[in-house]
Amino acid sequence: MRRSTLKECTVLIAQTGRSPLTLSLRVWPTIALVSVLVATPLAILGFTIYSLNEKNSALEQQNENLSESADEVMQEIDQLDSEIQDLQERAGIPDRASAAPDADRDRSRGGVAVQIEPEELLAIAKTAIPNLASQFHGEVKPAVAETLEEEAARVAARPEGRPVKADLRISSRFGLRSNPFGRGYEMHDGIDFPGPQGTPINTTAPGTVEKAEYQRGYGYHVVIDHGYGYRTLYAHLSEMAVKQGDTVVADQAIGTLGSTGRSTGPHLHYSVYWNGEAVDPVRYLSSSPSKD
Ligand SMILES: [Zn+2]
Repeated sequence: MRRSTLKECTVLIAQTGRSPLTLSLRVWPTIALVSVLVATPLAILGFTIYSLNEKNSALEQQNENLSESADEVMQEIDQLDSEIQDLQERAGIPDRASAAPDADRDRSRGGVAVQIEPEELLAIAKTAIPNLASQFHGEVKPAVAETLEEEAARVAARPEGRPVKADLRISSRFGLRSNPFGRGYEMHDGIDFPGPQGTPINTTAPGTVEKAEYQRGYGYHVVIDHGYGYRTLYAHLSEMAVKQGDTVVADQAIGTLGSTGRSTGPHLHYSVYWNGEAVDPVRYLSSSPSKD
């Protein structure tokens, strides 16, 4: 049987300024000790590198998520900005500089694309949101409200419905017609409702009485200015219940049907004017008005 010639080892442990510590050990314990001394730091180093890597990729993932969130926020801000600009245009406010930061422009400073850190994007977003909010509440919202009010007032000023509640037919329509008093044709600038003398006549929209007087052609007649370019005329009345300058509401009684002026018999002549031009009143008789 072959025996190992090496039975003991001496391990020297160097000590600064002192003589080395000497350990005499058998072979296997020596190998074991050296292995532990070498392997432990390697294991610790390996583990540290591994956990740093793990931490790093978790951070990268977190950063990527943050970046995506920041991009989404910026997109939403852009969307809001363009919606506010759209409202502003509709409300007739002159163009303004955009309150939303131009992230694409910021990304390419100096002509070279630069990745903006999500923290920076979020900081930009944080300043953009109050700007957008103050623009919306300070300027755009009141202007839109004003536009809507004006639109509502315009709609309210538009003549609507019949000037007589009694069920009277229309005998003469708007446009060219043969002259009821003689030969040839004439332009009829309204519509006629023949009916019993004294039938109540009412306004078709609120407004101010511009005329309540006698004239050879229209006889006793009332003209009402409704604003927004609308006027109505009620002619050949037997009596007038309003005077010039009176404020009237819609459906207010303003006189009674008659045959004064240039008239062949008791009837109401009703005209609607828009911006000074006579338009066909039939378009305004229904309660669901068509667009002008
Ligand atoms: Zn007429």
